[in-house]
Amino acid sequence: MKSNDSRGSSRRRFLTMAGAGVALLPFTGLVQVQTLGAAEMPKLTLDDPSAKALGYVDNSAVADQHCSNCNFWQGGDAERGGCPLFPGKSVAAKGWCKSWLKKAS
Ligand code: SF4
Repeated sequence: MKSNDSRGSSRRRFLTMAGAGVALLPFTGLVQVQTLGAAEMPKLTLDDPSAKALGYVDNSAVADQHCSNCNFWQGGDAERGGCPLFPGKSVAAKGWCKSWLKKAS
């Protein structure tokens, strides 16, 4: 049978390790974003389930709303760029989806 001190020590060690793992998660995501530029990312296809769910299209039919002026756009002046709603895929600058949000100025 373990003493209270021993259990407390194990719990502290577990919480420290779990906290370190959670703290590193955002950085592993950043590494992937930095190593995979939009040019290397596969294009988001219209038959992708997540694209269908958000009504993504490569050419916006909504006046003045397209990916490159959306707050989620991560492509700068490029023709294709990243979008956190479709991780690992590139979307078209002229594209659009239901989650379009006016870019914060
Ligand atoms: Fe384009 Fe939709 Fe991503 Fe905005 S949220 S950049 S409109 S795919």
